Amino acid sequence: MSRSRALVLALIVVLAGAFFALGGHRYLALEQLRAHEEAVQRTFRQHPAGTAAAYFLAYVAVTGLSLPGAAVLTLVGGAAFGLLWGTVLVSFASSIGATLAFLASRFLLRDWVQARFGARLRAVNEGVAKEGAFYLFALRLVPAVPFFLINLAMGLTPMRAATFYAVSQVGMLAGTIVYVYAGTQLATFRLSAGLVVAFTLLGLFPLAARRALAAVKARRAFARWPRPAKFDRNLVVIGGGSAGLVAAYIAAAARAKVTLVEKHRMGGDCLNTGCVPSKALIKTARVLSTIRRAKEYGLRSASAEFDFADVMERVQRVIRAIEPHDSAERYASLGVECVHGEAKIASPWIVEIQKPNGEKASLTTRAIVIAAGGRPFVPRIPGIEQTGYYTSDTVWDLRELPARLVVLGGGPIGCELAQAFARLGSRVTQVEMLPRLLIREDPEVSAMVEKRFLAEGVDVRTGHKAKAFRIENGRKVLLAEHEGRELAIEFDALLVAVGRVANTEGYGLEALGIPVTKARTVETNEFLQTAYPNITACGDVAGPYQFTHTASHQAWYASVNALFGGVKKFRADYSVIPWATFTDPEVARVGLSETEAKERNIPHEVTVYGIDDLDRAIADEEAHGMVKVLTAPGKDRILGATIVGEHAGDLIAEYVAAMRHGIGLKKILGTIHIYPTLAEANKYAAGAWQRAHAPQKLLGLLERYHAWRRG
Ligand SMILES: Cc1cc2nc3c(=O)[nH]c(=O)nc-3n(C[C@H](O)[C@H](O)[C@H](O)COP(=O)(O)OP(=O)(O)OC[C@H]3O[C@@H](n4cnc5c(N)ncnc54)[C@H](O)[C@@H]3O)c2cc1C
Repeated sequence: MSRSRALVLALIVVLAGAFFALGGHRYLALEQLRAHEEAVQRTFRQHPAGTAAAYFLAYVAVTGLSLPGAAVLTLVGGAAFGLLWGTVLVSFASSIGATLAFLASRFLLRDWVQARFGARLRAVNEGVAKEGAFYLFALRLVPAVPFFLINLAMGLTPMRAATFYAVSQVGMLAGTIVYVYAGTQLATFRLSAGLVVAFTLLGLFPLAARRALAAVKARRAFARWPRPAKFDRNLVVIGGGSAGLVAAYIAAAARAKVTLVEKHRMGGDCLNTGCVPSKALIKTARVLSTIRRAKEYGLRSASAEFDFADVMERVQRVIRAIEPHDSAERYASLGVECVHGEAKIASPWIVEIQKPNGEKASLTTRAIVIAAGGRPFVPRIPGIEQTGYYTSDTVWDLRELPARLVVLGGGPIGCELAQAFARLGSRVTQVEMLPRLLIREDPEVSAMVEKRFLAEGVDVRTGHKAKAFRIENGRKVLLAEHEGRELAIEFDALLVAVGRVANTEGYGLEALGIPVTKARTVETNEFLQTAYPNITACGDVAGPYQFTHTASHQAWYASVNALFGGVKKFRADYSVIPWATFTDPEVARVGLSETEAKERNIPHEVTVYGIDDLDRAIADEEAHGMVKVLTAPGKDRILGATIVGEHAGDLIAEYVAAMRHGIGLKKILGTIHIYPTLAEANKYAAGAWQRAHAPQKLLGLLERYHAWRRG
């Protein structure tokens, strides 16, 4: 604990101790008050301003120090100053005192609590950021919830002090008036159980009102649309990608009648233009790169001759091999009706389908899941349409290797494809506006990837902003700006990989008035419900993540909440989300990065294990990378892990499971890992943490003990 914290804590303890030692608590008993009512009133009549000021300060001190007696002090306010002035004094004093207690709790405990339970508190923090004022208001109306507890608990959340003060002032007013009034009637007034129940109901009122409000809002949204008397389906899912497939399957497994509508290809982006083809291409590129490194493995020569068209045909072969997993036949066998066609939401209960053969169908449905995915974002850079470009949607059609390829974008997709094409023989220039590749990761992670890219011949141009594309004498040129200077980069083909946007247009959202967010994804609440509670969204169309595994994770919530939301809803849980970028070296992450921990002021310790030391990595000639783990200070609780190196995406699974189930580094260290494997790196990272936290005093004693034993 820092010195200033220790000082504040000591001050509070001394003041609270003095209060009890001097018998302050005795004066705050109701019987005492009744006995001295006359005297209190007399003093006020003789010295009104002085008495009011002293009372105000005493009230602030008692509440600020979270001492017992605020209720009795409020009654004193009524007895001494009457209803109006009593209410004014108590209202301000209690709000100021509460805010002081809130600030003290924040100063003393918040960092510790957030560091210890940060991951688990994420949902609470987000809830408080969004609706904390509302909940505080409701709590303030319920006298059954102790005043001081609310102050201390709210101090641990991210709520702004000004919001806390304002809501407390307003929220406590009703209770204050009643208590002050009780003080004016001290002789006769009794705080009965009935009154507390009445207050509690008053407090529950906003919560009930909120539910009612949500119901009214939904009713109003629905009111514009005629409701079918009967429904053809329980659920219609729009989109047969990673999200839609899982959503439909969950519904079928729960014995709902479900139709999945896909306008293009089952499996969506992941199977057809995303994860699967990119990983297939990366593998071929990697095989080539290994062949080129034959000498490192003691082989005198190895041939790396190939035809690029064959490489791209292999990609298609891999897609075809995985296709049956996502096929209409498979899903039909699981109980999902699959329809090939373009879906449009005609009303909250009607989905119209335009089939490729011109037929139209209209299905009435209880609920709808929107899983329409996303598409590559193409920036409007002058000349880009004239020079032409590929995106992750179209690059798979290439059958001739571009001699000079510009990859626009230094994110995961740009990096994966830039390296793969470079390994296949293109002269790749990767252009990124930001100062480094993979900007979401820690700087040294980006540096490791960049170093390898440069070594493999990728011309990495970070800090370069693409300004225009030109065709000059038949040659394609990118004009980029770097540190105020303009430079020209010639190329044969351009691959745009600067991000993806959600598909939110053209299938009915506009007519239904379903809003989109600033990030241009479909707006949903924490239950993934849109403005219409029976219409949910998941996957890339809903965000905030753009991964296959998050799409299918969300799909469960979207499906269950769409089908059963009227009875029970489940909040989408984003507490432990892992991801990987399949470059070489591979980069995988779960939880916090060091940069994020610093930005968010989350206390943490960093342990790094260098994979260059790992036997298996050395045997494989792949001795590079690291395991970096963030833990809570002095604890083995994992806040986040980043792995850079061979199979990082597989290795991270151990840390994902550990974080998900609250397993610390000590338990990872106590787990047998097979020798020689890359997975041992996880254990060695845990070992490095253990060494840094070895009990030095005990070890000193042991050393002396052994010395004594030796005589
Ligand atoms: C090159 C690349 C590599 C990637 N690599 C990885 C990776 O390694 N790991 C990973 O986790 N993620 C990866 N991703 C991301 C991953 O592909 C997406 O996050 C995932 O596909 C999202 O699934 P989805 O179901 O939300 O959307 P999609 O897969 O896009 O599916 C949406 C479907 O909805 C259909 N549709 C849209 N509108 C309608 C309509 N009106 N009617 C009927 N059908 C409609 C579309 O045709 C589409 O098939 C990669 C993406 C790309 C582009």
